[in-house]
Amino acid sequence: MAVHAHPDDESSKGAATSAKYAAEGNEVLIVTLTGGERGDILNPAMDRPGIKERIHEVRKEEMAAAAAALGVQQTWLGYVDSGLPEGDPRPPLPEGSFATLPLEGPTEALVKVVREFRPHVMITYDEHGGYPHPDHIRCHEVSVAAYEAAGDPGAFPDAGEPWTISKLYYTHGFIRDRMVLFSDEFERHGQESPFKEWLSRWDSNRGDLMARVTTQVECGKYFPQRDDALRAHATQIDPNGIFFAVPLEWQQRLWPTEEFELAQTRVTTSIPENDLFAGVDAASEAQP
Ligand SMILES: [Zn+2]
Repeated sequence: MAVHAHPDDESSKGAATSAKYAAEGNEVLIVTLTGGERGDILNPAMDRPGIKERIHEVRKEEMAAAAAALGVQQTWLGYVDSGLPEGDPRPPLPEGSFATLPLEGPTEALVKVVREFRPHVMITYDEHGGYPHPDHIRCHEVSVAAYEAAGDPGAFPDAGEPWTISKLYYTHGFIRDRMVLFSDEFERHGQESPFKEWLSRWDSNRGDLMARVTTQVECGKYFPQRDDALRAHATQIDPNGIFFAVPLEWQQRLWPTEEFELAQTRVTTSIPENDLFAGVDAASEAQP
């Protein structure tokens, strides 16, 4: 189970891993917490009449196409996107939006989905949200709370039979080493690197996320499916944008993995891992 804040996050964070596990016969469920109603239209080709007016439905259609591209199941928790507040001082979040709600409601809603789907592994964002959006930070908080509560018979007794998740992971996408590798490859080919400015602005105080990575999943074979899923989010992802700047062949050759951090585990495993289910098989037999 991968828990995400908005439709499109599942396609930009750990998507090839989801596609791989689904293709290998596992049941994979994406849980999307909000409808993504406040996402800007980031693809110039989609910034046209008739899209903004029905953005809620458009994003549902896009999400269905992305899930189909990845071969995964998907469900909505139905919360309202908080938007990314901009300005100084930052305006307050819209009333009733996801990040303004008390933790308890969304946690119970997620626990209910966990107890129905009974995942062995849950994926979410780290405590910084991976990206400083209030819904992403809230997604982390709700996921961690649900990981704790789902197996506890005393917690949310009306939300189904308890189910204990074996492992909790954070997905890590902004790996500096990976950007450097791709940047160098552009230069080797005599081309300007699209990451040059990004790397020059790199804040060394952010630390190296690679130091937190415990698990690298080999999934280069599924990068084309990831890209199809990204393109399915046509209002959010510009097909001429940075997501598609690096040729697939370079990605598959130079960095064919996706990165995760084992945040919590209830089974025995050894680090580094190359499989999110490492240690799970034997332990899962023990649950009713
Ligand atoms: Zn998001």
